[in-house]
Amino acid sequence: MHFEVTELGAVERALQAEVRQFLTEELPRGSFVPGLGMNAAKDPAFSAKLGRRGWLGMTLPEEYGGHRRSMVERLVVTEELLRWGAPVGHHWVADRQSGPIIARYGTEEQKRRFLPPICRGILSFSIGMSEPDSGSDLASLATRAVRDGNGWLLNGRKVWTTGAAVNDWMIVLCRTTPVEEGGDKRSGLSQLMVELSADGVVATPIPFIDGTADFCDVMLEDVYVPDEQVLGTIGAGWTQNTSELAFERGGPDRWLSTYLVVEEYLRGLERGPVPHEVADLLGAAAANYWVLHHLTLSIARAVDEGRSPSIEASLVKEMGTRFEQDVLSGIQALIDLEPGLPARSMFERLLVTATLTAPSFTIRGGTNEILRSVASKGLAPSGGSR
Ligand SMILES: Cc1cc2nc3c(=O)[nH]c(=O)nc-3n(C[C@H](O)[C@H](O)[C@H](O)COP(=O)(O)OP(=O)(O)OC[C@H]3O[C@@H](n4cnc5c(N)ncnc54)[C@H](O)[C@@H]3O)c2cc1C
Repeated sequence: MHFEVTELGAVERALQAEVRQFLTEELPRGSFVPGLGMNAAKDPAFSAKLGRRGWLGMTLPEEYGGHRRSMVERLVVTEELLRWGAPVGHHWVADRQSGPIIARYGTEEQKRRFLPPICRGILSFSIGMSEPDSGSDLASLATRAVRDGNGWLLNGRKVWTTGAAVNDWMIVLCRTTPVEEGGDKRSGLSQLMVELSADGVVATPIPFIDGTADFCDVMLEDVYVPDEQVLGTIGAGWTQNTSELAFERGGPDRWLSTYLVVEEYLRGLERGPVPHEVADLLGAAAANYWVLHHLTLSIARAVDEGRSPSIEASLVKEMGTRFEQDVLSGIQALIDLEPGLPARSMFERLLVTATLTAPSFTIRGGTNEILRSVASKGLAPSGGSR
C-alpha cells in the first residue's frame, strides 16, 4: 500500500479552469436541478456535449475515438462534473469502466465497434455482476453460459443492475465451466457483452426509497451471445472483472456524493461568526475533502505511471464512502429541520435525497467490510501493490 504525494501541474490546472468555465456557461447554477454525484440525472444530450469537448473516453486510444490523455486529466474533469451536480448518469459507467475494460481486453473489432460511441457519449452500459445470492461472494454466482454453435446460451438472473432498463449494453460475469471441472470457483468465469434489448433479456426496475427506480432485476433466459461478444478470454473472467473493479473504486464518485449538501449548507449560513460546532464540522469536512482529493490524485498518477493501485483504491472507497455518510450525519445533527417532500429549498431537496440514498454508498461497488478486508491484505508486510 503506497500513496505518492503529488499535485496538479499547470496543464491540469488549466484543464480544471476550462471545465469550470464550461459548466458555468453550460449549466448555470439555478438553471438545472443538480444531482448527487454519479446518481445525477441521465441526459444523453449533455453526455454528447461532453463527448464533443473530448471529455469522455479521455484515456482511450485516439484510433478508437479516445484522446490519449492521462488518468489525472480524467480525474480533473470528473471531479468538477460531480462537484457541480452535472447530469452524468447516461455515460458514467461506460466512461468509467466499460470503455477502459473493452480497450484492455476487447478484440480489434470490438474496440472499433464500441469505443467510438462510448467516447461520443451515445452508448450506455450496465454492470452485470451481482446476483440474488452472490454479492460480496461474487465468484459463487449462478448465471451460466453453455456453448451453442458459434456462441453461448446464457441463463440466470442479475440484480441491483443500475440502469439496465434504459441502458444499451451490459457486461455480464457468468460461469462458462462448472466449478467441479474448473476446480476453484474463481476459474471458469467469463465476461459476455449482452445487448439489453436482446431476446430473452427482461430488466425490471426496482423502486428505490427515494422514489427513483434506477436499478433493476434482470432475467436472462436463453439469451444467445455470439462469439463476437465474448470479452477477453473465456475462463479469465475473474481476473478481468477484478481489474474492472479497480476503475470502479478509486475515483471521486466515492467521496463527492454528499458534497453539494455541504456546499448548500454553507451557502445558507448567516454572515458573521459561526458557532464552534459548525466551524468544527466544516473545518473537518474541508480537511477530509483535501485528503481524499489527494489520495484519489495519487491513485490516478500511479495508474499513469503504469502501476496498478487496486488495493489503494479499495481503501479510498472505504474511507470516502464512510466520510460522505458521516458529513451528512454531522449536518443533520446541527440543523433543526425535519426534511420532507416537497422540499422548500435546494438545501432541503438535496438533504432529503442524500438522507434516503446515503445507506447505499457503503454497499454499492463492494461493501465496506469487503473493502477493509482487501485493504488490510495490502497493509501486510508482504502485501501491497509495490
Ligand atoms: C445503489 C446500488 C447500486 C448497485 N448497482 C449495481 C450494479 O450496477 N451492478 C451490480 O452488479 N451490482 C450493483 N449493486 C450491488 C452491490 O455491488 C452489492 O449489493 C454488494 O456487492 C453487496 O452484495 P450483497 O447485496 O449481496 O450483500 P452481501 O454480500 O449478502 O452482504 C451482506 C452483508 O454481509 C457482509 N459481508 C458479506 N461477506 C462478508 C465477509 N466475507 N466478511 C465480512 N462481511 C461480509 C457485507 O459487508 C454486508 O454488510 C448495487 C448496489 C447498490 C446498493
